[in-house]
Amino acid sequence: MRYILAIDQGTTSTRAILFDENQNVVKVAQKALTNIFPHPGHVEQDAQEIWLSALSVIQEIFYDGKIKAQEVASIGIANQRETTVIWDKESGQPVYNAIVWQSRQSSYIVDRIKKAGYDNLFKEKTGLLLDPYFSFTKIMWLYENIPGLKNNENLLFGTVDTWLLWKLTGGKVHATDVTNASRTGLMNIAKLDWDDELLKLFDIPRSILPEIKDTAADFGKVLEYYFFAYACPIMSLIGDQQAALFGQSCFKRGESKNTYGTGGFLLINTGASLIKSKHDLLSTVAWKIGNEITYALEGSIFVSGSLIQWLRDSLKIIGKAQDSEAIASSIDDNGGVYIVPAFTGMGAPYWDKKARGLICGLTRGSDHRYLVRAALEAMAYQVKDLLDAVEEDIGYKIDSLRVDGGAASNNFLLQFQSDLLQMPIMRKPMQESTALGAARMAGLKAGVYHYEDFTNDTFTAFEPQKDAEMMNLYYQGWLKAVAKCLKD
Ligand code: ADP
Repeated sequence: MRYILAIDQGTTSTRAILFDENQNVVKVAQKALTNIFPHPGHVEQDAQEIWLSALSVIQEIFYDGKIKAQEVASIGIANQRETTVIWDKESGQPVYNAIVWQSRQSSYIVDRIKKAGYDNLFKEKTGLLLDPYFSFTKIMWLYENIPGLKNNENLLFGTVDTWLLWKLTGGKVHATDVTNASRTGLMNIAKLDWDDELLKLFDIPRSILPEIKDTAADFGKVLEYYFFAYACPIMSLIGDQQAALFGQSCFKRGESKNTYGTGGFLLINTGASLIKSKHDLLSTVAWKIGNEITYALEGSIFVSGSLIQWLRDSLKIIGKAQDSEAIASSIDDNGGVYIVPAFTGMGAPYWDKKARGLICGLTRGSDHRYLVRAALEAMAYQVKDLLDAVEEDIGYKIDSLRVDGGAASNNFLLQFQSDLLQMPIMRKPMQESTALGAARMAGLKAGVYHYEDFTNDTFTAFEPQKDAEMMNLYYQGWLKAVAKCLKD
């Protein structure tokens, strides 16, 4: 048997997942991570803790000797994107914490760049929007706030893929892949190379940046000492959302997936064409394998499954997230009640930072069931908002949607989503699409997997059961509710 090891380095935990030749999960090890909130709006992690968590989950997979590390053909790493580490290449010590993708600490830098009028240039070159989300302002924040970085020639920058690769290879390889590079705000998305004009503008030295490689490539070998005396090859680095797109077998133009996690991520494969959105969705690299580049459009939803957490932890009207399914199904319709979860403003396609959430349409008969149902419906309406925008951008119709993430286990949500979009919603029995995507990439490169192996996925399909006109009335109600909370 030849195995593929996926490392799924997420925001809340690091996992190692061992797949066999048939893409079945054989073993999983997981370690939780600590988030650090030094000031309001700052989200950081200890980069050494991230590294040690990866080392520890790898050790846990093989420690009992039941499966030999030598049986692993290759390793693939999927990672939380944008999170930024700068370290000293002599000591291997980070100069500061990892600044996490969610962190807003570099907002003031974004404001400065916007004021200088670089919005369009940045968008044009990177496919992104000026926002503290992307790595480059986090790098600038480090240079501006941590003493001793300026003119220090020993520094290296990496997103988490690069940091783990450098550590795993004993400091030999400083590289990233195109998907991760496309989230830094420093890569020219058409040329797939670091953009010298942007580097100059942001005063970031090219010497700290990693080499950009394909998504499936030779990334060097793990130091034997870390891997039970075996120098296992690393053959893929890939951002987590792109990995999920690949794990969901969205290989063709127009194929799309939505993740209903804490937040939501909708990605649409746009094939070899780089599409610039009129609705400010992000253009991103889906993957590059050999000479073939695949792009994607991406829309994120700030509040998705976390709305259910809010019902549970703040309103205390449900005991467990899973209870929401039975409660929402116990009433026939939403009774005109809507929740717009604009807790931190509205993202694509509305882009209104000042918008705040609301609950509307309440009557004397509106009890907790209506709020639960409105919350699940809101998760689905937000996906429709994005898909409608995407269809305008790409000029053709999407005909089905694949789903994953914690809340994708909710049958009410998926049925409602199918009725609302009037298209099949497809859920795989195995929900490990991120890890599977990384394993598939690394397995392809190692010759253990072939594309044909990825075509017989089985899905549970949720087909539309409700009338399109009636669903449109529901949706119009949502649009009216959204209009009430927009401020800009
Ligand atoms: P993360 O984004 O942190 O990886 P997950 O993909 O594990 O999160 O999804 C967790 C989210 O899904 C939580 O916000 C939780 O409220 C929500 N969730 C989990 N199970 C259900 C369910 N059955 N119905 C609705 N929401 C759910």
